[in-house]
Amino acid sequence: MKQGKLLYAGKAKSVYRTDTKDTLIVEFRDDITAFDGGKKDTLKNKGCYNASVSAFFFGYLEKHGVKTHYLQMLDDYRMAVRTLSMIPLEVIVRNVAAGSIVRNYPFKEGIKLDPPVIVIDFKDDSRHDPMLNDDLILALKLATPQELQKIKKVSLEINRLLSALLAKQGILLVDFKIEFGRQGRTIRLGDEISMDSMRLWDKKTKESLDKDVYRFNKGDVMATYNRVSHRITGDSAHPAAAKKTATAQKKERGPIRPAAKSKTEKR
Ligand code: C5P
Repeated sequence: MKQGKLLYAGKAKSVYRTDTKDTLIVEFRDDITAFDGGKKDTLKNKGCYNASVSAFFFGYLEKHGVKTHYLQMLDDYRMAVRTLSMIPLEVIVRNVAAGSIVRNYPFKEGIKLDPPVIVIDFKDDSRHDPMLNDDLILALKLATPQELQKIKKVSLEINRLLSALLAKQGILLVDFKIEFGRQGRTIRLGDEISMDSMRLWDKKTKESLDKDVYRFNKGDVMATYNRVSHRITGDSAHPAAAKKTATAQKKERGPIRPAAKSKTEKR
């Protein structure tokens, strides 16, 4: 697959056209931002960690019946995805009170939200992503009632699957943000699921294992991303391990090739 023109550059990812029908390439860059772009940095390997964790989660979700845009990783930073018409909604699922919900409402940080709370924001940087409700989503014609119902149902299913998966690694899924798009009449999970878009706490110590480390200067964010991506996906996600594999592969059989498509990724 050949990478074509840049279609869109966001704060941390770029999307490119390709020569393959209905397929785009998402490049996870090393840029990191917080507070509506008010804090910005470029951190070596960051894109690689987020790409590998996203690929791992997308693959896991597909295996469990969730439709996503994920096709395959092309290299450490680039993911081939299905072209979607994105719905400008940021769906946030919260299991534990943290972040803006604690700042804006009388929740004590760390209390369990059972059942989980879904908050949907309007993805619009110029308006600072204001919170929506069902009536506003329908009045703005951002989704049909059926689509909205489906989006909420799938979001809760994703929460159930990822919470259980992460719990096995001793990680608490506090909250996360996801985005959906349309492929014809099918709603698919798009964008990414990574340390940039989730709040993850160590179950025992309650230590932050996500972008809050960067937002609030809680420590070495790349050391955290390295450790947590390792914990979530195993050795293969580790850039050093990837390099080692590439070197070993080069020695054995020439340059590294893109990862093979899995059964769930066929087009
Ligand atoms: O800031 P807030 O508490 O509302 O964020 C909730 C969750 O959604 C966090 O995991 C955060 O990383 C994610 N989020 C995001 N992109 C945004 C807003 C929130 O990934 N634009």
